[in-house]
Amino acid sequence: MQNVHTHTWNQSDHFAPETVRETDVSRGFPIDLTVQFDAFMADMASFDKVIVFGMKARLNGYWVPDEYVAEFVARAPGKLYGFAGCDPTQHGYMEELRYGIEGLHLSGVKMGPIYAGFDPRDPRCDAVYAYCQDHGLPIMTHSGTTFNSKAPLGFSRPWLWDEVAIKYPNLRMVLAHVGHPFCEECLVVIRKHPHLFADISALYYRPWQFYNMLIAAQEYKVMHKLLFGTDYPFALSPDSIAGLRHVNDMLAGTALPRVSAHVIDEILNRDSFSLLGI
Ligand SMILES: [Zn+2]
Repeated sequence: MQNVHTHTWNQSDHFAPETVRETDVSRGFPIDLTVQFDAFMADMASFDKVIVFGMKARLNGYWVPDEYVAEFVARAPGKLYGFAGCDPTQHGYMEELRYGIEGLHLSGVKMGPIYAGFDPRDPRCDAVYAYCQDHGLPIMTHSGTTFNSKAPLGFSRPWLWDEVAIKYPNLRMVLAHVGHPFCEECLVVIRKHPHLFADISALYYRPWQFYNMLIAAQEYKVMHKLLFGTDYPFALSPDSIAGLRHVNDMLAGTALPRVSAHVIDEILNRDSFSLLGI
């Protein structure tokens, strides 16, 4: 199995104090999201390959240096693949990106428009998209909502990526969390573009939304574009796998349509790394 969505960071070094406070409020209790390597590897035991990134988004107080991600993944070569962070609102973002890829040998790029406060269609992004398309680098982007108060919801909409994909048809991209709660909007965007995918990370704990998304994906025939991810440390692997496997449990006693067991197996066993060209 493969996991396309995990984070590494040190909360005290990489999050602004206000961001830590908002995270605690969103959970309802104080939580330290710092990722410890041994705990991370234990959680990743079921996976052969894992994509790992931090986050660069100055507006909302996230800044994980690419060196930190590169050092983290170097502890398990062949299993962990790091992505460079990119915040195109900040000075020097292209130099940083080139160094992350060519100097630190990271395997793709992580963006977070809602966290950093930019429209995915912003002209400042063109250099990033062109570079990634030319170098065969996949982009993982946050899509959908978040709890941070300064994050503009207008930049979270999955449809914004449709225009990017029209302009860069060979650019491989993953829209994270199937754009929750705009899941159907995300499904129709990935349906249009052969190189666009969505990851199902951190959705299982809203089972009704998760179920409806999977049924919509079945009906739109885009199940083959859904990639498995967990969003560690926000969600753990055993819970994420069980949440997918047991998504039909709440239907007991109803005539509601079921998510096909065969398709669930396909999501869990998908060779996402090949689809993303890693
Ligand atoms: Zn994430």
